[in-house]
Amino acid sequence: LNFASLGLAEPLLRAVADTGYTVPTPIQAQAIPLVIQGGDLLAAAQTGTGKTAGFTLPILQLLLAKEPLESKGRPRVLILTPTRELAAQVEESVQTYSKYVKISSMVVFGGVNIRPQQTRLRNPLDILVATPGRLLDLVGQRSVDLSGIEILVLDEADRMLDMGFIHDIKKLMAIFPKERQTLLFSATFSDEIKELADKLLKNPGLVEV
Ligand code: AMP
Repeated sequence: LNFASLGLAEPLLRAVADTGYTVPTPIQAQAIPLVIQGGDLLAAAQTGTGKTAGFTLPILQLLLAKEPLESKGRPRVLILTPTRELAAQVEESVQTYSKYVKISSMVVFGGVNIRPQQTRLRNPLDILVATPGRLLDLVGQRSVDLSGIEILVLDEADRMLDMGFIHDIKKLMAIFPKERQTLLFSATFSDEIKELADKLLKNPGLVEV
């Protein structure tokens, strides 16, 4: 099994090859084709399984297949993470795998000045990686418009709930377009996560590693 057999375009395969990875991890082998087909996804995966590339690569593939849009402050993909460290790490992965394609990304998180983020959000933007609280602040100040979200990812959803982000996520859920593709990653599956998954996902493909 290799990355080429998973349905990824040449510029993405080249970026993967640059990292030195040759064999997809189990979560990548399962999630990449499923996401490219456009389905929702419920994935049980811990950190260290290669889950980040497992959602980043097929999302880039989907964006490549779409009409390009000039989208200032109006991302098409939103990736929510519980912490600023994870947000920064995920955005770095997006940068790594998008280096040969014309897809732009940005990361926003709390605990730092909001103004430079607002300024950068005036540039064209395809993929936004964010922590929930800061994202809500930016939406409230009309620096981000979520009406164009086509793909939503919740990364480490269990940690988001543990950290008390459920109210922020519920507020965001009221804003997201109903018509969208949603991917939810969680290491554990409490009743609370199952309830959230029920609300967010439609007939999700299940992946467990
Ligand atoms: P993650 O679970 O996304 O945090 O990734 C865990 C680590 O595995 C990261 O350091 C990745 O760079 C690395 N990784 C991701 N995909 C692969 C792969 N197919 N082969 C080897 N390492 C990988």
